[in-house]
Amino acid sequence: MNETKYKLASYVNASRPIIYINHFDFSAVDALIQEVADVLPNKPQIYEYNDAFGYVDFEWKNRKDYNETKDLASFLNPFYETEEEKFLVLKDIHFHLDNPKIIALLKVIALKTLNTKQEDFQTTIFIVASQLVIPTELEKLITVFDFPLLQQDQIGEIIRKFAQQWEFTIEKDVVEELALSCKGLSEFEIKQILYLAYDDGGSIDISEKKLIIQEKEQIIKKTGSLEIVNFKETIDAIGGLNNLKFWLKKKAQVFKQLDKAREYGVDIPKGIMLVGMPGCGKSLVAKATSRLFEVPLLRLDIGNLLGKYVGESEANFRQAIKIAEAVSPCILYIDEIEKAFAGVGETDGDSGVTKRLFGSFLTWLQEKENTVFVVATANDISKFPPEFLRKGRFDELFFVDFPNEEDRKKIFEIHLQKRGKLSQEIDINKLAKETKGFSGADIEAVVKETIETAFIDNKDKINTENLITVIKTTEPLSNSLADKINKIKEILEKMKFKLAS
Ligand code: ATP
Repeated sequence: MNETKYKLASYVNASRPIIYINHFDFSAVDALIQEVADVLPNKPQIYEYNDAFGYVDFEWKNRKDYNETKDLASFLNPFYETEEEKFLVLKDIHFHLDNPKIIALLKVIALKTLNTKQEDFQTTIFIVASQLVIPTELEKLITVFDFPLLQQDQIGEIIRKFAQQWEFTIEKDVVEELALSCKGLSEFEIKQILYLAYDDGGSIDISEKKLIIQEKEQIIKKTGSLEIVNFKETIDAIGGLNNLKFWLKKKAQVFKQLDKAREYGVDIPKGIMLVGMPGCGKSLVAKATSRLFEVPLLRLDIGNLLGKYVGESEANFRQAIKIAEAVSPCILYIDEIEKAFAGVGETDGDSGVTKRLFGSFLTWLQEKENTVFVVATANDISKFPPEFLRKGRFDELFFVDFPNEEDRKKIFEIHLQKRGKLSQEIDINKLAKETKGFSGADIEAVVKETIETAFIDNKDKINTENLITVIKTTEPLSNSLADKINKIKEILEKMKFKLAS
């Protein structure tokens, strides 16, 4: 907390006039603001406005204006005049941030602070809200403050206090294990889980990890942009892509013993970019990587990051990254990344938002020293800004092409085996020869359809001919998307991509 306190205090000292704290746990934010007020030399008065009650006492939370509930404008008005040093803590006022009068009032108070000498600041406005809404007019006056997530030892302290309060004993290593699982959650969320677990059995033990993981999945889902992916696939479910698989197995050696590797001087793997043909196993690779590295897989949906307010998309992005970092070590899987960043080089449309988001992402990728391993996939990179693919961002760029004959054999085997239909009667070599230009997904579809037809026709087995019949009626993706695919290949040939296969 100390580091956070001094960072926030330094913003106040530097006369940042409006500080936006995007957090829903108001009591935790209150505690921080109070601590900051306490370390400042001229202890400021704190005035609180909250959207439910109007003007309230910051310490006791009782209403200050029982007789007349003040609206936000009348609350703010007098503060422009007063000279004393003060904090205005405005809670859940994001709904008012499209009101020109409120914007104007915030602006005049903020400008007055800015124009005062640094050493005697006057007013710092804290907007505390669970949603980030930044009106364009205030964009330059607002500083967004990231409320940090709790560290493992802080979480441990919360668990120990809870046990004390309810008078049960809890072993030290259980506290540590549970605290590790709770990383990424707020104090409020952790306490909710503890109450739930305690209500259930009257004490708390290591089996609560399951509950924590379930709750965590819920919370991650609620962020809207991140999702924990559950799956069964291992690296053996991928046919072909041998170079890529070999490379991943090497990185897995590092990832599985990060502490040792770091000590030895090995760089922490950052991530890979997989570009290439649709349906050729890119998402399969993301899943298999998670299995190989023995860490969870988080999927980031960039489409859901994009918000309608200035700064909202970046705030959503920062929040998603923060959660991924808290959950780390983990794989952050970003599918079809081109959809989010395409248009960055263009001047029209909403490219301002995408450009900023893209900038934040690049910086994060470049500077990241955490253990979030990014697996980004893209089909079309024709609109990608070149800096995205520059060395240093990703550990490696791989091109995933349509499978060659050898790989197609493997893919047939995998999908037939998976459905219990691999037998001597099936000539895999022939199938592979007949499916030039088929993607892995096309091959899977052929196998599925053949098996379904055999079932309907009451056959107990399938043979090569059955499969060939379906192959003949299948239009592979490489035909239907021929033009697009040729364009992608042309671009890729100019770039230094490693071949995945
Ligand atoms: P897209 O770009 O369209 O998202 P993708 O490259 O991510 O496609 P996947 O979703 O991984 O492709 O593939 C779709 C399905 O096709 C997989 O679930 C898998 O069953 C099958 N498949 C694709 N490639 C392979 C492969 N190399 N080995 C085994 N199965 C494969």
